[in-house]
Order: sequence, then structure tokens, then C-alpha cells
Amino acid sequence: MKRRDLLKSALGLTAGMVGFSVMKPLYAADDWEVKGPAVPNIPITKVTDRCYYFLAKDPEPSPENFGFFSNPGFVVTSEGVLVIDTGGSVQIGEMLIRQIKTVTDKPVVKVINTHFHGDHWLGNHAFVEAYPNVEIYAHPKIMEQVKNGAGEFWTGFMSRNTNNATAGTVVTAPTKELVGGETIKMGNTTFKIHYMGKVHTDSDLAVEVVEEKVMYLGDMAMRRVANMADGSFQGSIDAMEKFQQMTHIKAFITGHGDHDGMALVNDQKEFFEILYGKVGEYYDAGLSDFEIKPKIEAEPFMQKVASKWPGYEHTLGRFVSDAYQEFERSLF
Ligand SMILES: [Zn+2]
Repeated sequence: MKRRDLLKSALGLTAGMVGFSVMKPLYAADDWEVKGPAVPNIPITKVTDRCYYFLAKDPEPSPENFGFFSNPGFVVTSEGVLVIDTGGSVQIGEMLIRQIKTVTDKPVVKVINTHFHGDHWLGNHAFVEAYPNVEIYAHPKIMEQVKNGAGEFWTGFMSRNTNNATAGTVVTAPTKELVGGETIKMGNTTFKIHYMGKVHTDSDLAVEVVEEKVMYLGDMAMRRVANMADGSFQGSIDAMEKFQQMTHIKAFITGHGDHDGMALVNDQKEFFEILYGKVGEYYDAGLSDFEIKPKIEAEPFMQKVASKWPGYEHTLGRFVSDAYQEFERSLF
């Protein structure tokens, strides 16, 4: 079967499943091979007068959610809008722009990508199209990852998981570097950029909105068990300690799940402290990773709190083996 026909049959199948067969599709299936359908509007969550984000209800990409599974944010300043993460496709980026326009008629002048996972930056394409002069910032490690094929990997990932609903997304890398420690002034609003080394990835930036006492964390803390293959458990614990010292912050906005106060940071720290601490303890006692997993599951915090997070059941085993390998590496 030709790729074209294969795509069509895959699309036909999904269309039937979600009931599009009785609705007029936004684009004909033939067009989907060029560009996927528009993403339905996601409501905006207002945290403070200037700070907003789009809450993704699903923890994973699917054909039904068009690949919308992480939380882009934006801040309205007197000198325009700063967007933090742009979603995983051009269609998601276009939806964000539509929705931002319902809050302000100011243009988007800056974008910050919090890390190199594609659900946080592939929407850059839409922003560059709508605002040709927009400045897109990220840690230089993202540029490195993009040179090494992260864009192709993530467009492929998004496309496979959405039955090609993200088709048409052009890899649009950030061009301006932030390494942490910078202060960005936009009219009435001050942004502080925080970099804490390898945490969820080696490219994580947190964006503090000083006047609003709000911190956009990217994926450094979240109540979700998903992907630590690129990160560090010890690095995450160390980063959470630093965030815990920022007692002036009133709201932490995460890349996945609801925003919260310091409890979000505390939960993340406790989760990784138990996981990584126990892995180390049992490693020293000579246990292998699959023997360690049930012992970690028996911990009260895991039973009462973490076991309710999305992904816990099917991903905890991978987290334990990732932590096991990190612990082993730390010994040499
Ligand atoms: Zn991520």
C-alpha cells in the first residue's frame, strides 16, 4: 500500500471512531496529508491579571486531542505578549494565537521554549507565520538537540500519535539564547530566567514573572509520571530545593496538569526523593530494579499520592530503571 493510501485508511478509521463521519470535517482527508485539521479552542486559565495558561486535560497525545497534551502559557505586558511554550504542532500554535487575541489585541513579541520536548515548541511555526518579527528564546542546548534531529523525532512522534492531525508542522527552532540568570523587561513586567542544570532535560528554563509572583516551570515539576529518560532524579531534587527557597512565589504553572502553590514543588521533591533514595538503598543491598519496584510502590506517599497521577501504573517501572541507572552512574 502506498504511504498516501495508508494515511487515508488510517484517517478513515479515526474519523469513524470519533464520529466525524456524520460531521462535516474541517478539512477534507486529502488536505490532511498537507495540513492537519484546526485544533478546537482550549479555554484559557487565568492565574493573575497578567499570567495565563491553557490547561491540557489529557496527559498523552491522541487523535482525539489533536496532540494537545501540555500547557502553553502567556503573559500580557504593557509592551505585548510573551508566550511560554507553543504546543506540539502548527495547528496548536494557531489555536493559541486565536485564543490569546480574545484576551488582548497586543501582538506576541517574544516566545520562550522551556525545553526541547516537541510538545513545548513545535507550535513555534504558527507564531513565526503570524508575527514575523517575534523573538524565540531557549536554552542553547535546545538548538543543539534540534541540530541532532529533535525536530524530526518530535514531528514524527506527534504525527504517529495523532493519526497525522499535526501534518504540515515545519520544524521552527528558537534562535535566541537564554542560559539562566537573565532579566527581561517588557514595559510594566519583569521576567527572571532560571536554569538549574539537568532536571527534566538539560535544557529546562523556568520563567518567573516578578510582579505577579508566578513561576512557569515547564516540565521540571508535575504531578504526572511520563518521561525522565532525558533528565536527572538528583538534579530534579536539587532544583526543587531551590524552588522551595523561593517562598515569594504564589503560583507555579507546570507543563502538565493544574497549577498550584508550593505544594506542587513539594510533591515533586518527595516523589523523587523516595524513588531515588530507595533505589540507592536497595541497590546497595544488592537488589535489581524489578525487585525494587514493589518496595517503592509500598511506600505510603506512593500509595496515597503518586499512584493517582497519570502514567503512574505503566511508567513507574521505567522510572525505577532510569533511577537505577542514574544511581549506578553516580558511583563512578
Ligand atoms: Zn517534557
